[in-house]
Amino acid sequence: MAELERKHGGTPVPTEWTYAPAPESRDIVSIRDRYGLYVGGEWIDPRSGKTFATIDPSTEEPLAEIAQAGPEDVSLAVAAAREAFENGWSALAPSERAKYLFRIARILQERSREFAVLESLNGGKPIRESRDVDLPLSAAHFFYYAGWADKLEYAFPNRQPQPVGVAGQIIPWNFPLLMLAWKIAPALAAGDTVVLKPAETTPLTALLFCDVLRQAELPPGVVNIVTGDGSTGAALVDAGVDKIAFTGSTEVGKAIQRRLAGTGKKLTLELGGKAANIVFDDAALDQAVEGIVNGIYFNQGHVCCAGSRLFVQESIYEPLVAKLERRLTTLRVGDPLDKNTDVGAINSAAQLEKIQELVASGVEEGAEIYQPPCVLPEKGYWFAPTVFTNVAQSYRIAQEEIFGPVLSVLTFRTPEEAVEKANNTPYGLSAGVWTEKGSRILWMAQRLRAGVV
Ligand code: NDP
Repeated sequence: MAELERKHGGTPVPTEWTYAPAPESRDIVSIRDRYGLYVGGEWIDPRSGKTFATIDPSTEEPLAEIAQAGPEDVSLAVAAAREAFENGWSALAPSERAKYLFRIARILQERSREFAVLESLNGGKPIRESRDVDLPLSAAHFFYYAGWADKLEYAFPNRQPQPVGVAGQIIPWNFPLLMLAWKIAPALAAGDTVVLKPAETTPLTALLFCDVLRQAELPPGVVNIVTGDGSTGAALVDAGVDKIAFTGSTEVGKAIQRRLAGTGKKLTLELGGKAANIVFDDAALDQAVEGIVNGIYFNQGHVCCAGSRLFVQESIYEPLVAKLERRLTTLRVGDPLDKNTDVGAINSAAQLEKIQELVASGVEEGAEIYQPPCVLPEKGYWFAPTVFTNVAQSYRIAQEEIFGPVLSVLTFRTPEEAVEKANNTPYGLSAGVWTEKGSRILWMAQRLRAGVV
């Protein structure tokens, strides 16, 4: 409760406006001590005989023991997916496939609180985000692709869309269930079967999803989940799949591309980013600040299209940075399961180390660092929201993907200069433009080398 102060004998008013803790209960989730691999609709022990612990990154507390799939386990999963593909799934009427997708979507909606709590526990993201973003979008994805299953001929006129076969799918840790939905829903709609490998640090929602598959009575083998580290991903790439769909780092994406060259296997890659957010002097500054904050501090900055480079027109540089720094002091960093938390835990010790190393390089190269006063919990992996000013284009913090709550601010004078600086990156996922002028938005959008503006 806030303290009350009585002024001039009037009604008492609070002297301090703070949020009381509002933790979401974790009782809705039951986590098993140990998980096997989900192959052919059954839980099996890994032939590799190996396991590893998955933890809560906000406390470093172990949550469960996870199977580490070796090449033999991956082959078994691919064989189960092949059998399911050949013995029914690919020949099933598209409208029947759609029914399963609808069922999965409905079950995800019904169990969304359970999934949201588990996602925050295992990944460190604020419950507000897993509850309001990850879960509704995951269910929406299954609904959306359920609608497509019997309309693929309309999507590709004059062609007869055919399933590819067995899809090997490798996903990262920043949106574990949502990435699973992005991968599995379209594959099932198209008549493919799947072997999916979740990221090593965030396997739990993918494993809970196996329960959903059973509840939806999806035929065995249509979706198989193999857990493990990068070596399990590499084994899946080399296994007898027809396609690999990968989301993750540019480095690993390139390695997979090299590995698959000449094999005839299909490949889709969704890799990193270093998005530019460009603010012109006619933009509504308070709105722009909200956009900037969402762009880089949402999900602790673990977002491939995070707006990690901010370009500000010189004439508004000082007021904008002042507003931004003030806004940062209001971000609440802490317990991911607290409904008031804005910035949760960093996903892993390795990711925290990477962020710390890049931030240290920014300081060393001469950038000015600002972090709002905030008390970080002692246990777990945490990093305060950070803004760098006085950043040169050549600094590593302006060039490399940090994948953390770290923003680099640079300036420009003319629209041409903004375009040139924003395009000075090997990445091209996304960009943002803040201005009142519609014509300038179109002018910029045509020139920015990014997939989404
Ligand atoms: P990775 O690319 O290493 O991981 C993505 C997935 O690929 C994980 O499931 C991983 O397994 C798996 N994998 C790792 N090595 C191989 C391999 N040789 N063959 C096949 N699969 C493999 O990303 P990280 O998690 O290590 O993150 C590193 C950086 O990547 C981040 O700092 C960020 O910059 C970027 N990134 C970008 C993402 C995006 O959405 N664009 C998402 C995640 C990261 P495992 O988890 O077990 O290592």
